Amino acid sequence: MQDSIESAIDIILKSKFAIVFTGAGISVESGIPPFRGEKGLWNKYDPDALDLNNFHLNPFDAWKVIKEIFYDFFQDSKPNDAHLVIAELEQLGIIKAVITQNIDNLHYEAGSKVVYEFHGNSRKLVCPYCGKKVLAAEIDLSNVPLCESCHAVLKPDFIFFGEGIPEDAYRNSVNVSQNADLVIIIGSTGEVVPAASMPQLAKQYGAKIIEVNPEKTLFTDSITDIYLKGKAAEIMNKLLIGIKQKI
Ligand code: NAD
Repeated sequence: MQDSIESAIDIILKSKFAIVFTGAGISVESGIPPFRGEKGLWNKYDPDALDLNNFHLNPFDAWKVIKEIFYDFFQDSKPNDAHLVIAELEQLGIIKAVITQNIDNLHYEAGSKVVYEFHGNSRKLVCPYCGKKVLAAEIDLSNVPLCESCHAVLKPDFIFFGEGIPEDAYRNSVNVSQNADLVIIIGSTGEVVPAASMPQLAKQYGAKIIEVNPEKTLFTDSITDIYLKGKAAEIMNKLLIGIKQKI
């Protein structure tokens, strides 16, 4: 395994179909904590709030936690340099797609166009019965939100424990993973499946793997070719500067 920015830049510039795979770590510098780890949200909140059965049985209790985590402070977060660099690399024609496990909408806000949201998106709420979707920002969340049409309790449009991956996101993610010759993994432990199987699939189909993370992960000693130890924004900025000097 190599660990240099220079080698990573060379591999990125040689790639024909580079994709990015992101986890909660890329948004830490936007002020959104990850779920796992020392400062993770599961040290403060009960993950049962995101259990589908629990949500249907106790929607009022579940919504209290959901509102606090995903709407009181996710809502105001802004993309950081790592999101912005990815969008710029897409504009330069280097990155073809982003597969993200994140539900914070920050890749779109940064300007990325081809984004597959493996776990959905928190900016919308969906009615579990009629399927109607509404923007969370337009709803008063001080009370449990109800569907205008059928009065069912609305659910955030991201997947809860016990729910399947959105079909389009899954199909598109598999497709780009099979076609990628390079995956840049940023800020993911590799512990959440089936998301973590996307970089593994790409590796089986011959892709090189560059990984950006301050800590080693399940990917690092198994599929990673180049491990860039550090925070997402700093490393992605270094990569962008190096790439721009060479193109
Ligand atoms: P994860 O697999 O997403 O892991 C977080 C990783 O980020 C860790 O490996 C950690 O070392 C790394 N990291 C921390 N700071 C970083 C930084 N500055 N730069 C780069 N990497 C950094 O695990 P999780 O937090 O348990 O999340 C599990 C799932 O929960 C995610 O896949 C996602 O669906 C959801 N989630 C989403 C968000 C979000 O939308 N921003 C936040 C929390 C959790």
